[in-house]
Amino acid sequence: MKRDHAHQLEHLQAAIAQNTDHVANDGGSPSYGRVATPGMDARHGVILYLDEITVNFDGFKALNKLSLDISVGELRCIIGPNGAGKTTMMDVITGKTAASSGTAFFGQNIDLSKLNEAQIAHEGIGRKFQRPTVFEHHTVFQNLELAMKTDKRVKPTLFSRLTGEQSDAIGATLELIGLKREVWRSAGLLSHGQKQWLEIGMLLMQEPLLLLLDEPVAGMTDAETERTGELLNQLKGRHSLMVVEHDMDFVTSIAGNNKVTVLHEGSVLAEGSMTQVQSDQRVIEVYLGR
Ligand code: ADP
Ligand code: MG
Repeated sequence: MKRDHAHQLEHLQAAIAQNTDHVANDGGSPSYGRVATPGMDARHGVILYLDEITVNFDGFKALNKLSLDISVGELRCIIGPNGAGKTTMMDVITGKTAASSGTAFFGQNIDLSKLNEAQIAHEGIGRKFQRPTVFEHHTVFQNLELAMKTDKRVKPTLFSRLTGEQSDAIGATLELIGLKREVWRSAGLLSHGQKQWLEIGMLLMQEPLLLLLDEPVAGMTDAETERTGELLNQLKGRHSLMVVEHDMDFVTSIAGNNKVTVLHEGSVLAEGSMTQVQSDQRVIEVYLGR
């Protein structure tokens, strides 16, 4: 867990350091809504394509010929028992773990196996680990500001003046994550749920095309869980999302009619609507029935 924390910070900082103005901004709209970038070719509507990915840990296959694809703007929920390989799959997508075999593409053209973690973040894949990782001694505002994509030609400092566009982006994100009233509070004083939203907000400031969320509602109160569902529903369509979660009520609330994938022993056991997978006998046996 501690490792995750340090890792997330590293990942975020690397992404911040790597950021340039490679994304054309179309002007008026708030910048968190980009669905495609000149770097990634999503013309065929697929944002992530995994084909027969295997991850071998000393003979143990954490992923075993895993194949899966996600469409642009889709919200895909991934469920499955502990040890199924859900986190390992995210590790492969983000470049933290190398696949032993198989193919992973971002859009049509970006071979993820050829990029390191910072480059993958830079291409537009954001990841949220299970634990919130915010800068506790900074305010909510500063956290969002620090996470913002910045033009490398202009040295970013806490005291540099924001452009109108940048302030708008922070304002829009604050609205989305529901932390307008907390904007000047230290992040360390926020509730667990609020910290998680702030971290999602920080990822949004990076304008990810694909956002990976690992168990986002773990440890949240019912009210926080419900609010998170609303947040993710709002992100649907603006970003492509992959959400790993155990809370079935929550998954039902965000999955809608979208496809849900069930992982088991490193491969896809079932895929379909929530209603379909919930009535799948194999899924009931390995996961839901226990
Ligand atoms: P999930 O997130 O679905 O609970 P994980 O992807 O964390 O599953 O783990 C899948 C399997 O791979 C588990 O059996 C886990 O113990 C194993 N595993 C994960 N990371 C490593 C590693 N670095 N070395 C060896 N085994 C690992
Ligand atoms: Mg996991």
